[in-house]
Amino acid sequence: MDIIDFANIPCTTGALEYMKESSVGSADVCTDMAYESVRSAAKGCVLEALQNGTLKYRRYNEPAANKELLAYPVARIIVSSIKNTYLTKRYALAVAKLAYEHIMSFRADGLRELAADFGITATVDARTMSATIHFTDYIHHAHVLHEPKWKLSSRTVKGGMLTISKSDFARLMEEVVRKKVEFGLPHDVPQEIKEALKQYINEVQEAANIRANKQGFSKEGFSEVSPGCFPPCISSAIADVQANVNLSHSMRFAMTTFLLNIGMKPEKITEIFRASPDFKEQDTNYQINHIAGASGTAYTCPTCATMTTNGNCPGKTQCKKIKHPLIFYRRKLWIQNKKQAKKVVS
Ligand code: SF4
Repeated sequence: MDIIDFANIPCTTGALEYMKESSVGSADVCTDMAYESVRSAAKGCVLEALQNGTLKYRRYNEPAANKELLAYPVARIIVSSIKNTYLTKRYALAVAKLAYEHIMSFRADGLRELAADFGITATVDARTMSATIHFTDYIHHAHVLHEPKWKLSSRTVKGGMLTISKSDFARLMEEVVRKKVEFGLPHDVPQEIKEALKQYINEVQEAANIRANKQGFSKEGFSEVSPGCFPPCISSAIADVQANVNLSHSMRFAMTTFLLNIGMKPEKITEIFRASPDFKEQDTNYQINHIAGASGTAYTCPTCATMTTNGNCPGKTQCKKIKHPLIFYRRKLWIQNKKQAKKVVS
């Protein structure tokens, strides 16, 4: 892969090494007058991601690719400084969608090299461009994709390996990119860097606020429940849905049971899922009503242990000894109500 590839897929190990070897430090990019256009490009990317959920695929020449690659860490700093889960997920999704466009232009050796960079061994047929990978790699990245073709049972597995088309392989790589970009965000940003990027951060913050108001998933949207008391797993799942990111089946189930268990109406839950990339109203209604008990069994939200096993627990540190998402919610709600009652008395 070269600088053009790194600009389009900036989360690769190759891109990170390229940046490390470059003479430009991240502090210089944030503060030096000479890099004003890089900072503007970074802000532009974050705004475009926020507004469109994707980034326009451009064919860069080398200098333009260099600028884009330098803009990537600055964009991450802007996103980190705002600490907005929706913005973080939306940004990661947009970078991943751009990566997909670029991966589709790869030849067999490019696909192999990219997969290896991501720790996946793939053999690619140079004629058909189909890729053969181990089924565990497939499941690891395809489990959030809901179309029937992504089910393992829809694939032919021979000796633990399965073969998929180039576009399906690129879609899996898109998923890897999304997770890699999101990983580590938000990170800590030194105060002097925040100061240096203040105008860019403020502009994105303002756009994020306007977007949040338009979203319709504000606190008022939940009416009878208190979203401020949701545990990190559920807040993160809702942010994923809002940002157009697919949820795994187990996370969908957990989020739906949680919201039903705390008293949210099925119609309101359907509204939340409406932003999902694969939303189908009739199917969603059916699933929610089924989980709510329409067929005789009403389900309860899984325990923290199950959530952890399924890879759906992002926030153990914030939850201390909590063993169930519903207990997190009830405790936090109790504390919130107590505080409000105190305020009324005083
Ligand atoms: S510890 Fe439990 S409540 Fe907290 S994020 Fe994990 S699964 Fe959710």
